Amino acid sequence: MDRIDVLADGFVHLDSAMADDLSVVNAARVSFGTRRDAMDERDEGLIGFLMRERHGTPFEHNAFRFHVRCPIFVMREWIRHRIGSFNELSGRYAKIDEAFYVPALEDVRTQVGKPGAYTFEAVDMETAERTRAAMEASYAASYAAYEAMLADGVAKEVARSVLPVGIMTEFWWTVNARALMNFLSLRNAEHAQREIRRYAEAVEALFEARMPVTHRAFLEHGRSAP
Ligand SMILES: Cc1cc2nc3c(=O)[nH]c(=O)nc-3n(C[C@H](O)[C@H](O)[C@H](O)COP(=O)(O)OP(=O)(O)OC[C@H]3O[C@@H](n4cnc5c(N)ncnc54)[C@H](O)[C@@H]3O)c2cc1C
Repeated sequence: MDRIDVLADGFVHLDSAMADDLSVVNAARVSFGTRRDAMDERDEGLIGFLMRERHGTPFEHNAFRFHVRCPIFVMREWIRHRIGSFNELSGRYAKIDEAFYVPALEDVRTQVGKPGAYTFEAVDMETAERTRAAMEASYAASYAAYEAMLADGVAKEVARSVLPVGIMTEFWWTVNARALMNFLSLRNAEHAQREIRRYAEAVEALFEARMPVTHRAFLEHGRSAP
């Protein structure tokens, strides 16, 4: 249950976590020199208070370590979130697998409106099929060029230049609940790109399972990080 499949070939796996709601209340109560071993109703109220008043630091004494497999263009958006630690599969040291993101038919979309206020609408079936076929052909040609260069003895770090942002990558991401909620507020949101949003939904489900009271307070606070 700590692994959620995302898109056709990706996943979010909560590899390890040191995270619970009690750490939030105890981090707040250390100011008064007290500590509790179990949550009660008053503690739930305290978490709501901390969230509402934006006392953010008690939400930092925890850690979630995720293992993620996603297209490079999704990771490129993800790593903009600076509060957290990343390590990624190296295209210099390892041969990158032939695995690419091809959107499902219903995810091939057109953008309508102005920059900053786009809406995205499904294209007709014929266009969707043509798009998928064009992507597959382009991916196959890129990967064939990559493999031909490797066969010629070209270094992986040089040959990888021909690989597109739709190829799959893997990384570890370690993050605390405060930065995680900031990520969710921006990426599990209407204006986020659909693909990273699917990953953010998986991250949110895993976060909710570990810190349900904090998650509820996040929702009640309008999905805004403290
Ligand atoms: C819908 C959407 C569209 C986007 N479009 C673009 C785009 O067109 N071009 C583009 O370049 N980026 C774009 N971004 C990325 C965006 O600008 C942020 O880089 C990204 O969302 C990370 O947010 P963050 O800085 O809050 O997160 P983090 O880096 O994790 O930071 C968390 C919080 O820590 C604090 N913080 C971190 N670093 C600093 C700092 N140096 N100084 C002060 N406070 C800091 C801030 O309070 C910040 O909110 C987009 C993001 C979204 C969600």
